[in-house]
Amino acid sequence: MKYLIPLILVILLIRHLLKKKKRKPTPAMKPEPEELKQDPVCGAYVAQERDLSLRTEDGMVYFCSKGCMEKFRELKQ
Ligand SMILES: [Zn+2]
Repeated sequence: MKYLIPLILVILLIRHLLKKKKRKPTPAMKPEPEELKQDPVCGAYVAQERDLSLRTEDGMVYFCSKGCMEKFRELKQ
């Protein structure tokens, strides 16, 4: 029984420290909304996908489909 009181004190201390460590859960970071680009051919808003994009004089242009990309190419020529 000699060690009971120090043991209880240690347990209380540990519990106290653990309580202190518990912080309010930080609100989860909102994921950045994916920037949508307008398909210049059909006007649809599309997520930026590299395989459906073209580099033009005005910058990158994104398309909803390969069909639109090809149409755009034909229009540019
Ligand atoms: Zn399109």
